Amino acid sequence: MDAVVLTQFGAADYLAVQSVPDPHPGPGEVLLRVRACGVCYHDVINRRGSLPRTSVPAILGHEVAGEVIEVGPGVETWKVGDRAATLQRLSCGACPSCLSGRKSLCKRDNRFFGEELAGGYATKMVAPIHGIGHVPAGIPWEVAATVCCTAGTAVHVLRTRGRVQPGETVLVTGASGGVGLQTVQLARLDGAHVIAVTSSATKVDALHNAGAHEVVVAPTLDFASKVRKLTGGEGVNVAIEIVGSATFAQTLKAMAPGGRVVVVGNLESGTIDLNPGLVIVKELEILGAYATTQEELETALQLTSQGLLTPFVTEVLPLRDAASAHVRLENRKVAGRLVLSPDI
Ligand SMILES: [Zn+2]
Ligand SMILES: [Zn+2]
Repeated sequence: MDAVVLTQFGAADYLAVQSVPDPHPGPGEVLLRVRACGVCYHDVINRRGSLPRTSVPAILGHEVAGEVIEVGPGVETWKVGDRAATLQRLSCGACPSCLSGRKSLCKRDNRFFGEELAGGYATKMVAPIHGIGHVPAGIPWEVAATVCCTAGTAVHVLRTRGRVQPGETVLVTGASGGVGLQTVQLARLDGAHVIAVTSSATKVDALHNAGAHEVVVAPTLDFASKVRKLTGGEGVNVAIEIVGSATFAQTLKAMAPGGRVVVVGNLESGTIDLNPGLVIVKELEILGAYATTQEELETALQLTSQGLLTPFVTEVLPLRDAASAHVRLENRKVAGRLVLSPDI
């Protein structure tokens, strides 16, 4: 089969189309004919070599949608022809973390598509059934591919981790990316007052269209004082920190007393200086958010199929254009999601 193979860590040029042996499903696995695979900033970080569980040569991609074309031994819940979308990572379904509903903390099986598991920058992909969800009819492939990582992440950060209540103020950094736009939408849908931060004035309209009440354009990422002004000096109740180290200090300064900071992205893989005093006097909660669960994926697919969340697939590109998709994402030239398709 054809696949885009990362031959060594580093520049986007190291993503090359190659012919590789066809994969075959083992027990508890299915073989997918990949119909679409989203290009996520996580893939860029992975390509640069910042994720220690990946070894090259690697096939990246964890935002995969496709049809089941072969079923491995012991699989009863999936059949040939079913439509599937991937979760980012697996879970065992039986450990204390899984049984308490926190499958993204499972340590017994935490393999990640595009890291230990071959990903979806390919025409075919093997998927363990713990790592896929059923895609309702009517959701296009390119949309289904991105739901887990965009809308599913929004469900995880706002509802599960952020516990956002109607009437609360929610700040979203890095708001114009695929996760950001869905987070803005869902926060609005859930009754929050939404303040979006973006580094580019060209993204303002897209953010208002997604439901942001206010958009702060901060090319140098100094948004805290503007956000405080917009909230009458009070600060925000919840921040969804998608950028990470580059914006974290400003986000902390923008928090209201008792605020919750949900950290879901760290685009530069950087570290931060943190003044614990600020956390102490405001009794802030700093909460990590990692991966979407099966239940959250199903909620996100439902919201999408009901039209309550509008997906932001910007463009569908041929699979062979993976490298240029990475460059566009790194240069912040994309509002919404780029999706690769082996079919065009
Ligand atoms: Zn992703
Ligand atoms: Zn588990």
